[in-house]
Amino acid sequence: MNGTAHAAIGAAAGFVVANTLHTSPSTTLFLVGLGGVSALVPDLDIDGKLREKITFSHHLIQLVAQLIGILMVVYSFFEGSADERWIGMGIGMVMMAVSAKIKQKHMLTITGIGVLLGGISLQETWLILLGIYILIASFVSHRSYTHSILGVLFFGIIASKLEASLGINGVYYTCLAGYISHLIADLKILPFNKRGVKLFLPISSIEI
Ligand SMILES: [Zn+2]
Repeated sequence: MNGTAHAAIGAAAGFVVANTLHTSPSTTLFLVGLGGVSALVPDLDIDGKLREKITFSHHLIQLVAQLIGILMVVYSFFEGSADERWIGMGIGMVMMAVSAKIKQKHMLTITGIGVLLGGISLQETWLILLGIYILIASFVSHRSYTHSILGVLFFGIIASKLEASLGINGVYYTCLAGYISHLIADLKILPFNKRGVKLFLPISSIEI
């Protein structure tokens, strides 16, 4: 199933939650959008268009990292004391070398680290956990852990922290409903799916 279909089902799930809880029109609209986004989250584990959309511009990150590297070398050379000078220039040169080697496929990992650091500086638990989720998703194979019960539990914790942070009733159920709707839509029993999902990882890798 493609991303648009997943998002549409998730949005519908958000609408059902909003109706059940009798939320205000603006909250209903928010929950519909949140349901759509939540239904796309499990597929962060693919090398596809979705990945390119959510990750920061590859060239921009490269440029910023290289600029910081150059500034560190120059600053350390003029301002550092004897030891600091060489350490600072060394780190700057390593940064320049590493940033030249950043590839598109590492962008999701870098995005995860960015979200994690953002969460730490803002002291938002849900953002820290989301960063960890994205980091893990960037390493596991497609339709594995993000498409399992373990993935649902992890995302459920993120959703409950998000609801507590926003103070909006229905956020938790909407995120969970959107996420679970994705896994149901990816099940092998549906005629348009060639592959199923490994719901019981890591206990069993049977495809359902
Ligand atoms: Zn999927």
